[in-house]
Amino acid sequence: MTKNSVKAENNVDVVIVGAGMVGATLACALAPSNLHIALLGAHCPQPSWADDGYDIRVSAITRTSQALLQDLQIWPYIEAQRLSPYREMHVWDASGHGEVHFDSAELGEPDLGHIIENRVILKALHQRLALLDNVRLLCPVVTKKLDIGEDRTRLTLADETQIQGKLMVAADGGRSWVRQQAGMGVHGWDYDQSALVTWVKTERHHQEAAWQRFQPDGPLAFLPLTEGHSAIVWSTGHEHAKALLALDKAAFAEELATSFEDRLGKIEKIGPRAVFPLRYFETLHYVQPRLALVGDAAHMMHPLAGQGVNLGMADAASLAEVLLDAHHKHRDPGRYSVLRRYERWRRADNRAMLCSMDAFKLLFSSRSQAIRWLRNTGLNMTDRITPLKHALMQRALGG
Ligand SMILES: Cc1cc2nc3c(=O)[nH]c(=O)nc-3n(C[C@H](O)[C@H](O)[C@H](O)COP(=O)(O)OP(=O)(O)OC[C@H]3O[C@@H](n4cnc5c(N)ncnc54)[C@H](O)[C@@H]3O)c2cc1C
Repeated sequence: MTKNSVKAENNVDVVIVGAGMVGATLACALAPSNLHIALLGAHCPQPSWADDGYDIRVSAITRTSQALLQDLQIWPYIEAQRLSPYREMHVWDASGHGEVHFDSAELGEPDLGHIIENRVILKALHQRLALLDNVRLLCPVVTKKLDIGEDRTRLTLADETQIQGKLMVAADGGRSWVRQQAGMGVHGWDYDQSALVTWVKTERHHQEAAWQRFQPDGPLAFLPLTEGHSAIVWSTGHEHAKALLALDKAAFAEELATSFEDRLGKIEKIGPRAVFPLRYFETLHYVQPRLALVGDAAHMMHPLAGQGVNLGMADAASLAEVLLDAHHKHRDPGRYSVLRRYERWRRADNRAMLCSMDAFKLLFSSRSQAIRWLRNTGLNMTDRITPLKHALMQRALGG
């Protein structure tokens, strides 16, 4: 191949960089068309794993995301592996008496959502993708250069392969290489917190409930997995997270159970531990001519409400709808006027969620006496005021 030529099969309509949960969802959502799609992954999907534990990365998937995954025929592949419904949520403040209990039965719903291992979601997406003729997965790839032209965007890989499309979509996560190459700015900040993640088996069963204790350093969540196991997301200061990571298993188990007020009894078994720094940001723009950002490439938020991938899947669904509509009308999918529709749609929804979660995080990390009183009273009032509680549950369902 000469430097400037592109093999016919590498000349497509849409190039998606990043084959994570959001990029792969977008590819599936675009597939019911004759658009040619290239999906590029830095890693290839993990086809199987040892059957001796759980993925330490899990996601709370809302009912709205579930409906999307059902529409895209991905959900059956998830069900064929494993997933855990959460029917209730217990949320309480470590520094007071405030507590709220959400129960899906109050809304006449079977559950509030599901906790699913990320590797299970990814495997299901790739099982579905394997059946789609117009999506080509290229992995593992190393991206080298991005040229955004007037009619096409061209990507050069480290092995000098060139791929070009009318539209390039950045689905390459929070540190998005594509976003940086395109010079698209973000505004946001570090939370000065890390999330320590692992899985555990507790003495008492979680009762298919998600449990979250708000501590001044950050929330500690126990999320239900199968057979009485729970996924742990423990957000805390960087130094504390590092110290927790360094503890031996027995000491960590003790520290975890104590921080959780022993609500599920002793910790009997613990998986591997890892730590992720937490950031908040949103890009100033979601699109520019020939380029769109989705998922963590466009926005990141605190995991306390388990919304990141749900917002990303909503981005993917909205962008697909806009692009399929444009394609139907024989319009160029990379045109700014087409992409602006997506930006207007998603920015409003995402900003509302990003801001409310950030305010929530600030409220629960304050050590001020007045704020402590306010949030404890607020939690108890929420527990007693049925319409407010139901509205919050509808929000958790993704509505
Ligand atoms: C501790 C924790 C708990 C969370 N819990 C929840 C939860 O319960 N519910 C929820 O909704 N969200 C949750 N989130 C957020 C959620 O994990 C993210 O929002 C989600 O992973 C974003 O998906 P994504 O596909 O946009 O990005 P990523 O998951 O980061 O995927 C990006 C993909 O792009 C690939 N990539 C990167 N660069 C390149 C490149 N140059 N070329 C090709 N490929 C590339 C990467 O390998 C990766 O596969 C949590 C986050 C954390 C940190």
